[in-house]
Amino acid sequence: MADVTVMGAGVFGLSVAFACARRGARVAVIERTGIAAGCSGGVVGMLAPHAPEKWNALKAFQLDSLLAARDLWTTAAELSGIDPGHARVGRLQPIRDARGLELARARAAAARELWPDHVTWEVIEAPAGAWTPASPTGLLIRDTLSARVNPRAACQALAGAIRASGGTITAGDTPPDGARPVVWATGVAGLRDLSAATDRAAGNGVKGQAALLGLNAAGQPQIAADGVLIVPHADGTVAVGSTSERDYTAPDTTDQQLDALLLRAGQVLPVLAAAPVIERWAGLRPRAKSRAPMLGPWPGRPGHYIANGGFKIGFGMAPVAGEVMADLLLDGIDRIPESFHPEASL
Ligand SMILES: Cc1cc2nc3c(=O)[nH]c(=O)nc-3n(C[C@H](O)[C@H](O)[C@H](O)COP(=O)(O)OP(=O)(O)OC[C@H]3O[C@@H](n4cnc5c(N)ncnc54)[C@H](O)[C@@H]3O)c2cc1C
Repeated sequence: MADVTVMGAGVFGLSVAFACARRGARVAVIERTGIAAGCSGGVVGMLAPHAPEKWNALKAFQLDSLLAARDLWTTAAELSGIDPGHARVGRLQPIRDARGLELARARAAAARELWPDHVTWEVIEAPAGAWTPASPTGLLIRDTLSARVNPRAACQALAGAIRASGGTITAGDTPPDGARPVVWATGVAGLRDLSAATDRAAGNGVKGQAALLGLNAAGQPQIAADGVLIVPHADGTVAVGSTSERDYTAPDTTDQQLDALLLRAGQVLPVLAAAPVIERWAGLRPRAKSRAPMLGPWPGRPGHYIANGGFKIGFGMAPVAGEVMADLLLDGIDRIPESFHPEASL
Protein backbone atom coordinates (compact mmCIF):
# COMPACT_ATOMS: atom_id res chain seq x y z
CA MET A 1 0.00 0.00 0.00
CA ALA A 2 1.32 3.46 -0.89
CA ASP A 3 2.08 6.06 1.79
CA VAL A 4 0.08 8.63 -0.22
CA THR A 5 -2.52 8.03 -2.94
CA VAL A 6 -3.22 10.90 -5.31
CA MET A 7 -6.29 10.92 -7.54
CA GLY A 8 -5.71 12.93 -10.74
CA ALA A 9 -2.59 13.47 -12.86
CA GLY A 10 -2.97 17.16 -13.64
CA VAL A 11 -0.36 19.64 -12.48
CA PHE A 12 -1.81 19.80 -8.94
CA GLY A 13 -1.94 16.04 -8.37
CA LEU A 14 1.48 15.48 -9.91
CA SER A 15 3.05 18.32 -7.87
CA VAL A 16 1.65 16.96 -4.61
CA ALA A 17 2.78 13.44 -5.50
CA PHE A 18 6.27 14.57 -6.49
CA ALA A 19 6.69 16.72 -3.36
CA CYS A 20 5.86 13.63 -1.28
CA ALA A 21 8.08 11.34 -3.37
CA ARG A 22 11.03 13.75 -3.01
CA ARG A 23 10.71 13.35 0.75
CA GLY A 24 10.92 9.57 0.49
CA ALA A 25 7.21 8.66 0.57
CA ARG A 26 5.85 5.86 -1.65
CA VAL A 27 3.27 7.54 -3.84
CA ALA A 28 0.59 6.12 -6.11
CA VAL A 29 -1.10 8.43 -8.63
CA ILE A 30 -4.37 7.18 -10.11
CA GLU A 31 -5.65 8.96 -13.21
CA ARG A 32 -8.94 8.36 -14.97
CA THR A 33 -8.06 9.43 -18.52
CA GLY A 34 -4.35 10.18 -18.98
CA ILE A 35 -1.54 12.43 -17.77
CA ALA A 36 -2.57 16.07 -18.33
CA ALA A 37 -5.88 14.93 -19.80
CA GLY A 38 -7.71 17.78 -18.06
CA CYS A 39 -7.08 21.49 -17.87
CA SER A 40 -3.32 20.92 -17.42
CA GLY A 41 -3.06 19.71 -21.01
CA GLY A 42 -3.31 23.24 -22.41
CA VAL A 43 -0.83 25.36 -24.31
CA VAL A 44 -0.29 28.67 -22.49
CA GLY A 45 1.89 28.11 -19.38
CA MET A 46 2.39 31.70 -18.27
CA LEU A 47 3.80 31.97 -14.75
CA ALA A 48 3.16 35.63 -14.00
CA PRO A 49 2.82 37.45 -10.68
CA HIS A 50 -0.18 39.35 -9.41
CA ALA A 51 0.46 43.10 -9.24
CA PRO A 52 2.56 43.90 -6.15
CA GLU A 53 -0.12 45.83 -4.25
CA LYS A 54 -2.91 45.12 -1.74
CA TRP A 55 -0.68 42.33 -0.42
CA ASN A 56 -2.44 39.26 0.95
CA ALA A 57 -1.90 35.56 1.63
CA LEU A 58 -2.70 34.59 -1.97
CA LYS A 59 -0.13 37.00 -3.43
CA ALA A 60 2.54 36.02 -0.90
CA PHE A 61 1.94 32.33 -1.63
CA GLN A 62 2.11 32.99 -5.37
CA LEU A 63 5.38 34.92 -5.01
CA ASP A 64 6.94 32.03 -3.05
CA SER A 65 5.68 29.61 -5.67
CA LEU A 66 7.05 31.58 -8.62
CA LEU A 67 10.40 31.79 -6.85
CA ALA A 68 10.31 28.03 -6.14
CA ALA A 69 9.46 27.14 -9.76
CA ARG A 70 13.05 26.93 -11.00
CA ASP A 71 13.99 24.31 -8.41
CA LEU A 72 10.89 22.21 -9.13
CA TRP A 73 11.22 22.24 -12.90
CA THR A 74 14.99 21.76 -12.90
CA THR A 75 14.71 18.76 -10.58
CA ALA A 76 11.83 17.28 -12.56
CA ALA A 77 13.88 17.68 -15.77
CA GLU A 78 16.93 16.02 -14.24
CA LEU A 79 14.99 13.04 -12.90
CA SER A 80 12.76 12.50 -15.94
CA GLY A 81 15.02 13.51 -18.82
CA ILE A 82 12.05 15.59 -20.11
CA ASP A 83 12.42 19.35 -20.58
CA PRO A 84 9.43 21.16 -19.01
CA GLY A 85 10.32 24.29 -21.00
CA HIS A 86 10.71 26.47 -17.92
CA ALA A 87 12.52 29.81 -18.21
CA ARG A 88 12.20 33.12 -16.42
CA VAL A 89 11.84 35.23 -19.56
CA GLY A 90 10.08 38.23 -17.97
CA ARG A 91 6.98 40.06 -19.17
CA LEU A 92 6.16 43.32 -20.97
CA GLN A 93 2.91 45.25 -20.51
CA PRO A 94 2.06 48.49 -22.33
CA ILE A 95 1.17 51.58 -20.27
CA ARG A 96 -1.96 53.15 -21.75
CA ASP A 97 -2.15 56.59 -20.11
CA ALA A 98 -1.10 58.87 -17.24
CA ARG A 99 -3.19 56.92 -14.74
CA GLY A 100 -1.56 53.67 -15.87
CA LEU A 101 1.86 55.25 -15.49
CA GLU A 102 1.11 56.43 -11.97
CA LEU A 103 -0.06 52.93 -11.03
CA ALA A 104 2.95 51.29 -12.66
CA ARG A 105 5.32 53.53 -10.68
CA ALA A 106 3.51 52.78 -7.42
CA ARG A 107 3.76 49.08 -8.17
CA ALA A 108 7.47 49.40 -8.99
CA ALA A 109 8.00 50.92 -5.54
CA ALA A 110 5.90 48.18 -3.91
CA ALA A 111 7.86 45.47 -5.72
CA ARG A 112 11.09 46.89 -4.28
CA GLU A 113 9.56 46.39 -0.82
CA LEU A 114 7.85 43.04 -1.36
CA TRP A 115 9.94 41.14 -3.90
CA PRO A 116 13.49 39.89 -3.41
CA ASP A 117 16.23 42.03 -5.03
CA HIS A 118 16.96 39.70 -7.94
CA VAL A 119 13.51 40.18 -9.51
CA THR A 120 12.17 43.59 -10.53
CA TRP A 121 9.08 45.47 -11.74
CA GLU A 122 10.04 48.67 -13.56
CA VAL A 123 8.87 51.23 -16.08
CA ILE A 124 10.99 51.33 -19.25
CA GLU A 125 11.01 53.11 -22.62
CA ALA A 126 9.52 50.76 -25.22
CA PRO A 127 12.48 49.50 -27.29
CA ALA A 128 12.23 49.44 -31.09
CA GLY A 129 11.71 45.97 -32.54
CA ALA A 130 9.25 43.34 -33.67
CA TRP A 131 8.74 41.98 -30.13
CA THR A 132 7.59 45.27 -28.59
CA PRO A 133 3.83 45.64 -27.98
CA ALA A 134 2.16 48.82 -29.18
CA SER A 135 2.07 51.32 -26.28
CA PRO A 136 0.25 54.69 -26.49
CA THR A 137 2.64 56.28 -23.95
CA GLY A 138 5.77 54.73 -25.48
CA LEU A 139 6.38 53.14 -22.07
CA LEU A 140 6.18 49.57 -20.83
CA ILE A 141 6.13 47.73 -17.54
CA ARG A 142 8.85 45.10 -17.52
CA ASP A 143 8.97 42.52 -14.77
CA THR A 144 11.73 39.95 -14.50
CA LEU A 145 9.82 37.53 -12.26
CA SER A 146 7.44 36.18 -14.92
CA ALA A 147 8.36 32.84 -16.40
CA ARG A 148 6.88 30.22 -18.69
CA VAL A 149 6.57 26.48 -18.75
CA ASN A 150 5.27 24.13 -21.43
CA PRO A 151 2.16 22.72 -19.71
CA ARG A 152 2.09 19.27 -21.32
CA ALA A 153 5.84 18.71 -21.14
CA ALA A 154 5.84 19.95 -17.54
CA CYS A 155 3.24 17.33 -16.55
CA GLN A 156 5.17 14.60 -18.37
CA ALA A 157 8.37 15.73 -16.61
CA LEU A 158 6.65 15.53 -13.21
CA ALA A 159 5.23 12.11 -14.07
CA GLY A 160 8.69 10.89 -15.11
CA ALA A 161 10.21 12.32 -11.93
CA ILE A 162 7.59 10.55 -9.80
CA ARG A 163 8.35 7.23 -11.49
CA ALA A 164 12.11 7.83 -11.17
CA SER A 165 11.53 8.36 -7.43
CA GLY A 166 9.77 4.99 -7.10
CA GLY A 167 6.17 6.21 -7.45
CA THR A 168 3.53 4.73 -9.72
CA ILE A 169 0.96 6.24 -12.08
CA THR A 170 -1.89 3.94 -13.05
CA ALA A 171 -5.26 4.14 -14.76
CA GLY A 172 -8.40 4.21 -12.62
CA ASP A 173 -10.91 6.42 -10.91
CA THR A 174 -11.26 4.93 -7.42
CA PRO A 175 -8.66 4.64 -4.68
CA PRO A 176 -7.87 1.12 -3.43
CA ASP A 177 -9.86 0.02 -0.36
CA GLY A 178 -8.26 1.29 2.81
CA ALA A 179 -5.81 3.66 1.05
CA ARG A 180 -5.01 6.64 3.32
CA PRO A 181 -4.28 9.44 2.94
CA VAL A 182 -6.00 10.05 -0.37
CA VAL A 183 -5.57 13.41 -2.12
CA TRP A 184 -8.29 14.35 -4.58
CA ALA A 185 -6.69 16.52 -7.27
CA THR A 186 -9.43 15.91 -9.77
CA GLY A 187 -10.01 19.41 -11.15
CA VAL A 188 -13.52 20.41 -12.19
CA ALA A 189 -14.87 16.88 -11.52
CA GLY A 190 -13.54 17.19 -7.97
CA LEU A 191 -15.32 20.52 -7.42
CA ARG A 192 -18.54 18.88 -8.58
CA ASP A 193 -17.97 15.92 -6.23
CA LEU A 194 -17.31 18.24 -3.29
CA SER A 195 -20.42 20.28 -4.09
CA ALA A 196 -22.54 17.11 -4.25
CA ALA A 197 -21.05 15.67 -1.03
CA THR A 198 -21.57 18.86 0.98
CA ASP A 199 -24.70 20.13 -0.73
CA ARG A 200 -22.92 23.48 -1.25
CA ALA A 201 -21.67 25.11 -4.45
CA ALA A 202 -17.91 24.70 -3.92
CA GLY A 203 -16.83 25.98 -7.32
CA ASN A 204 -17.27 25.56 -11.05
CA GLY A 205 -15.48 25.20 -14.36
CA VAL A 206 -14.59 28.36 -16.27
CA LYS A 207 -13.90 27.65 -19.91
CA GLY A 208 -10.81 29.03 -21.61
CA GLN A 209 -9.77 28.92 -25.26
CA ALA A 210 -6.20 29.41 -26.44
CA ALA A 211 -4.08 28.83 -29.55
CA LEU A 212 -0.56 27.88 -30.49
CA LEU A 213 1.19 29.66 -33.36
CA GLY A 214 4.18 28.41 -35.31
CA LEU A 215 6.72 31.18 -34.71
CA ASN A 216 10.18 30.94 -33.19
CA ALA A 217 10.50 33.65 -30.54
CA ALA A 218 12.22 31.50 -27.91
CA GLY A 219 13.80 33.59 -25.17
CA GLN A 220 11.65 36.66 -25.85
CA PRO A 221 9.61 38.05 -22.94
CA GLN A 222 5.94 37.30 -22.53
CA ILE A 223 3.45 40.02 -23.30
CA ALA A 224 0.19 40.90 -21.55
CA ALA A 225 -1.80 43.57 -23.40
CA ASP A 226 -5.46 44.31 -24.14
CA GLY A 227 -6.56 41.13 -22.37
CA VAL A 228 -4.26 38.98 -24.54
CA LEU A 229 -1.43 36.83 -23.18
CA ILE A 230 1.42 36.03 -25.55
CA VAL A 231 3.86 33.36 -24.40
CA PRO A 232 6.83 32.35 -26.56
CA HIS A 233 7.89 28.79 -25.82
CA ALA A 234 11.29 27.17 -26.22
CA ASP A 235 10.09 24.82 -28.97
CA GLY A 236 9.46 27.40 -31.72
CA THR A 237 5.83 28.05 -30.82
CA VAL A 238 4.02 31.04 -29.36
CA ALA A 239 0.89 30.57 -27.24
CA VAL A 240 -1.94 33.10 -27.31
CA GLY A 241 -4.49 33.03 -24.49
CA SER A 242 -7.15 33.07 -23.26
CA THR A 243 -10.89 33.54 -23.22
CA SER A 244 -12.78 33.33 -19.92
CA GLU A 245 -16.30 31.92 -20.23
CA ARG A 246 -18.67 31.03 -17.43
CA ASP A 247 -21.40 30.09 -19.91
CA TYR A 248 -20.60 27.65 -22.68
CA THR A 249 -22.24 24.81 -24.54
CA ALA A 250 -19.24 22.48 -24.98
CA PRO A 251 -16.22 22.58 -22.65
CA ASP A 252 -13.61 21.57 -25.21
CA THR A 253 -14.44 23.29 -28.49
CA THR A 254 -13.13 26.55 -29.90
CA ASP A 255 -15.14 29.15 -31.77
CA GLN A 256 -15.19 32.75 -32.96
CA GLN A 257 -14.17 34.00 -29.51
CA LEU A 258 -10.76 32.49 -30.16
CA ASP A 259 -10.71 34.06 -33.64
CA ALA A 260 -11.34 37.45 -31.99
CA LEU A 261 -8.53 36.83 -29.49
CA LEU A 262 -6.11 35.95 -32.30
CA LEU A 263 -7.12 39.11 -34.15
CA ARG A 264 -6.35 41.20 -31.05
CA ALA A 265 -3.04 39.39 -30.61
CA GLY A 266 -2.08 40.39 -34.17
CA GLN A 267 -2.93 44.01 -33.34
CA VAL A 268 -0.82 43.94 -30.16
CA LEU A 269 2.12 42.36 -31.98
CA PRO A 270 1.83 42.49 -35.80
CA VAL A 271 4.45 39.76 -36.23
CA LEU A 272 1.85 37.30 -34.89
CA ALA A 273 -0.71 38.11 -37.60
CA ALA A 274 1.25 36.21 -40.25
CA ALA A 275 2.15 33.20 -38.09
CA PRO A 276 0.31 29.93 -38.81
CA VAL A 277 -2.12 28.64 -36.17
CA ILE A 278 -0.94 25.12 -35.40
CA GLU A 279 -3.38 24.27 -32.61
CA ARG A 280 -6.64 25.55 -31.13
CA TRP A 281 -7.42 24.28 -27.63
CA ALA A 282 -10.08 24.70 -24.96
CA GLY A 283 -10.45 23.45 -21.41
CA LEU A 284 -12.23 24.04 -18.12
CA ARG A 285 -10.35 25.79 -15.33
CA PRO A 286 -11.21 24.57 -11.82
CA ARG A 287 -12.41 27.69 -10.01
CA ALA A 288 -13.17 27.36 -6.30
CA LYS A 289 -15.88 29.62 -4.91
CA SER A 290 -13.19 31.53 -2.97
CA ARG A 291 -11.23 31.94 -6.28
CA ALA A 292 -8.14 30.86 -4.31
CA PRO A 293 -6.54 27.43 -4.54
CA MET A 294 -8.33 24.85 -2.41
CA LEU A 295 -5.86 22.85 -0.30
CA GLY A 296 -6.38 20.81 2.84
CA PRO A 297 -8.49 18.10 4.47
CA TRP A 298 -11.77 17.11 2.83
CA PRO A 299 -14.36 18.44 5.31
CA GLY A 300 -15.96 15.57 7.22
CA ARG A 301 -14.09 12.81 5.38
CA PRO A 302 -11.14 11.72 7.55
CA GLY A 303 -8.03 10.63 5.65
CA HIS A 304 -9.15 12.41 2.48
CA TYR A 305 -7.66 15.69 1.23
CA ILE A 306 -8.25 18.13 -1.60
CA ALA A 307 -5.77 19.87 -3.94
CA ASN A 308 -7.84 21.87 -6.40
CA GLY A 309 -8.85 25.39 -7.43
CA GLY A 310 -5.78 26.27 -9.52
CA PHE A 311 -8.15 28.35 -11.68
CA LYS A 312 -6.09 30.64 -13.97
CA ILE A 313 -2.74 30.20 -12.21
CA GLY A 314 -2.49 26.49 -11.39
CA PHE A 315 0.96 26.08 -12.95
CA GLY A 316 2.24 29.14 -11.10
CA MET A 317 0.89 27.88 -7.75
CA ALA A 318 1.83 24.20 -8.15
CA PRO A 319 5.40 24.32 -6.73
CA VAL A 320 4.40 25.51 -3.25
CA ALA A 321 0.95 23.88 -3.36
CA GLY A 322 2.78 20.55 -3.63
CA GLU A 323 5.13 21.40 -0.75
CA VAL A 324 2.48 22.57 1.72
CA MET A 325 0.37 19.52 0.98
CA ALA A 326 3.42 17.29 1.60
CA ASP A 327 3.97 19.10 4.94
CA LEU A 328 0.41 18.35 5.92
CA LEU A 329 0.25 14.77 4.65
CA LEU A 330 3.64 13.54 5.85
CA ASP A 331 4.40 15.72 8.88
CA GLY A 332 0.98 16.95 10.00
CA ILE A 333 2.18 20.56 9.67
CA ASP A 334 -0.40 22.97 8.27
CA ARG A 335 1.28 25.91 6.47
CA ILE A 336 -1.72 26.42 4.20
CA PRO A 337 -3.26 29.91 4.29
CA GLU A 338 -6.67 29.80 5.97
CA SER A 339 -8.34 31.25 2.90
CA PHE A 340 -7.17 28.16 0.92
CA HIS A 341 -8.85 25.64 3.22
CA PRO A 342 -11.77 23.87 1.50
CA GLU A 343 -14.16 25.28 4.15
CA ALA A 344 -13.49 28.76 2.73
CA SER A 345 -15.36 27.74 -0.42
CA LEU A 346 -18.29 26.04 1.31
C1 LIG B 1 -7.14 28.33 -21.66
C2 LIG B 1 -6.41 28.15 -20.35
C3 LIG B 1 -5.23 28.83 -20.15
C4 LIG B 1 -4.55 28.69 -18.94
N1 LIG B 1 -3.37 29.37 -18.78
C5 LIG B 1 -2.66 29.22 -17.65
C6 LIG B 1 -1.43 29.88 -17.49
O1 LIG B 1 -0.97 30.57 -18.40
N2 LIG B 1 -0.75 29.72 -16.32
C7 LIG B 1 -1.24 28.95 -15.31
O2 LIG B 1 -0.59 28.85 -14.27
N3 LIG B 1 -2.43 28.29 -15.43
C8 LIG B 1 -3.14 28.43 -16.57
N4 LIG B 1 -4.35 27.81 -16.71
C9 LIG B 1 -4.91 27.12 -15.55
C10 LIG B 1 -4.30 25.76 -15.33
O3 LIG B 1 -4.31 25.02 -16.52
C11 LIG B 1 -5.07 25.04 -14.21
O4 LIG B 1 -5.10 25.83 -13.04
C12 LIG B 1 -4.44 23.69 -13.87
O5 LIG B 1 -4.16 22.95 -15.02
C13 LIG B 1 -5.36 22.89 -12.95
O6 LIG B 1 -4.72 21.67 -12.68
P1 LIG B 1 -5.43 20.51 -11.88
O7 LIG B 1 -4.41 19.46 -11.73
O8 LIG B 1 -6.08 21.05 -10.66
O9 LIG B 1 -6.65 20.04 -12.81
P2 LIG B 1 -6.66 19.15 -14.13
O10 LIG B 1 -5.49 19.43 -14.99
O11 LIG B 1 -8.00 19.30 -14.76
O12 LIG B 1 -6.45 17.68 -13.59
C14 LIG B 1 -7.45 16.91 -13.01
C15 LIG B 1 -7.21 15.46 -13.42
O13 LIG B 1 -8.03 14.61 -12.64
C16 LIG B 1 -8.50 13.56 -13.47
N5 LIG B 1 -9.67 12.99 -12.80
C17 LIG B 1 -10.90 13.52 -12.65
N6 LIG B 1 -11.67 12.70 -11.89
C18 LIG B 1 -10.91 11.63 -11.56
C19 LIG B 1 -11.12 10.44 -10.78
N7 LIG B 1 -12.28 10.17 -10.16
N8 LIG B 1 -10.09 9.57 -10.66
C20 LIG B 1 -8.91 9.79 -11.25
N9 LIG B 1 -8.64 10.90 -11.99
C21 LIG B 1 -9.64 11.80 -12.15
C22 LIG B 1 -8.76 14.22 -14.81
O14 LIG B 1 -8.76 13.27 -15.85
C23 LIG B 1 -7.58 15.19 -14.88
O15 LIG B 1 -6.46 14.61 -15.54
C24 LIG B 1 -5.06 27.89 -17.91
C25 LIG B 1 -6.25 27.18 -18.12
C26 LIG B 1 -6.92 27.31 -19.34
C27 LIG B 1 -8.19 26.53 -19.57
